[in-house]
Amino acid sequence: MLDIEDYIRIIPDFPKEGIIFKDITPLLASPEASSVCVQQLLELIDGKKIDKVVGVESRGFFFGTLLAQEIGAGFVPVRKAGKLPYQTLKQPYELEYGWDALEIHEDAISKGEKVLVHDDVLATGGTAEAVCSLIEQLGGEVVQCNFIMQLDFLKGKQKLKKYPVASILNY
Ligand code: AMP
Repeated sequence: MLDIEDYIRIIPDFPKEGIIFKDITPLLASPEASSVCVQQLLELIDGKKIDKVVGVESRGFFFGTLLAQEIGAGFVPVRKAGKLPYQTLKQPYELEYGWDALEIHEDAISKGEKVLVHDDVLATGGTAEAVCSLIEQLGGEVVQCNFIMQLDFLKGKQKLKKYPVASILNY
């Protein structure tokens, strides 16, 4: 079977010095590799019941929607502040320098729904932590935080101790 790691392009010093960017565009460009990626993400979920898949702007949208289709779940986008058109719930989160905020539509998740969080990369975990907080504020239950890859040295998993965390690749 093909190895999806071969479809992750490493870009040193992007978007700034010291960051080793993991570029998934070669993966997206290959239908064969994308299909293997979806299958491997599904294996991580291991048959758990999921009502909604929450994808994180913007690279969490690609495989998040594909996963939702495969599972038979609804897809919910979490976006940067000011992008969603309806009434939103907002959660600030810490960036390397300063703060930003993520938003979700306030009717996107119903009380008691089982939710899968998906993004391409788990780095420091601040983004996923904010997303989980939004889901819980709406009464949803985070069943798994699911990533294509984890950057282990940034210890993002420690911020997500309350949740099962799974990824295909570890760096
Ligand atoms: P963090 O909140 O630090 O876990 O960062 C996660 C978010 O930033 C995800 O939405 C990723 O898409 C993006 N990200 C962080 N680090 C990288 C990286 N080295 N390569 C690609 N994307 C990254």
